[in-house]
Amino acid sequence: MPNSACPLCTNMAVKMYLWRGYRIQKCRTCGLEFLEERPSESQLAAFYQDISQKKMVNSEIRAKKIDYSFGKYLENYSRHSSKTNPRFADVGGGVGYYAAAAQKHLSSVFLVDYADDALNFARDELQVKNVIRADAQNSHRALAPHSIDYLLFRHILEHVIDPIGCIQNLCKSLSTGGVLQIETPNVASYEHLIRPHIIVENFKILKSDNKAMSTLDLLYQAGRKSLSGINPPKHLWGFTPDSLTSLLRQCDMKILDVLCKPFGDPVFDPLYYDFHSLSNRNGLGKLYYYVEQLGTFAFKNSGSNLVVLAQHNQSS
Ligand SMILES: [Zn+2]
Repeated sequence: MPNSACPLCTNMAVKMYLWRGYRIQKCRTCGLEFLEERPSESQLAAFYQDISQKKMVNSEIRAKKIDYSFGKYLENYSRHSSKTNPRFADVGGGVGYYAAAAQKHLSSVFLVDYADDALNFARDELQVKNVIRADAQNSHRALAPHSIDYLLFRHILEHVIDPIGCIQNLCKSLSTGGVLQIETPNVASYEHLIRPHIIVENFKILKSDNKAMSTLDLLYQAGRKSLSGINPPKHLWGFTPDSLTSLLRQCDMKILDVLCKPFGDPVFDPLYYDFHSLSNRNGLGKLYYYVEQLGTFAFKNSGSNLVVLAQHNQSS
């Protein structure tokens, strides 16, 4: 099969490998990782039906960490917008910790998610006032046009079938000068290189799916496959700073800020060391906890979590 053109910049992409039956390609120019053939809406719906909301725990410590994180988000927002008390929405915001934190600072806060059980938890356990059921691709139908000044879109873009259409729809809800904050895995990061078990796992999956690939090539591909990058049917896209900013510019957005933050970053990944705490580890895992903490420091500006703030200037 021939190599495809990159769906973002239309330059040539290279075929890389099969991953759980999906052929993954990478753009030579902007670095976007994408699928030769995306799954259908119904395949994805079936996949997400099986996902449980394992984060559905009402925890004071968790709330405290996300309060801290959201306070920093607001500080960063105010560096780019003079608006005080912005109308805020967290689209695809899951169980609502960020919306709950936002309510402590702002008077107009909306949580949008497709999962009823997540929304029920947000409303009943975290007292989030405005919860709206809609999927990320169609949030513009749930939020009033031009009604949002600060829209958070955390770790959703890599899951959607049509990211350009999705961003265009989000823009319909943004006010003129409204700010969109996107967070998504950064496949240009080498942060995974300090996690050899990830490379071993990558190698096993690649080896079973790509029988004709040489060991050297398997090792190379396993070593360059980033942490939490493209991983179908979950993550359908692997973005880099270049490809995400190019996508946003195609949607008539102005780029305000680009950050690459590591796993365990206190602002952008505040719960990492809760899910991977020292007390949950044994043997080498305990030692490895400190290696990861060193990694969080070493990759503090080149990590696997890409954060882009962009501004909507259009009135249409
Ligand atoms: Zn490209």
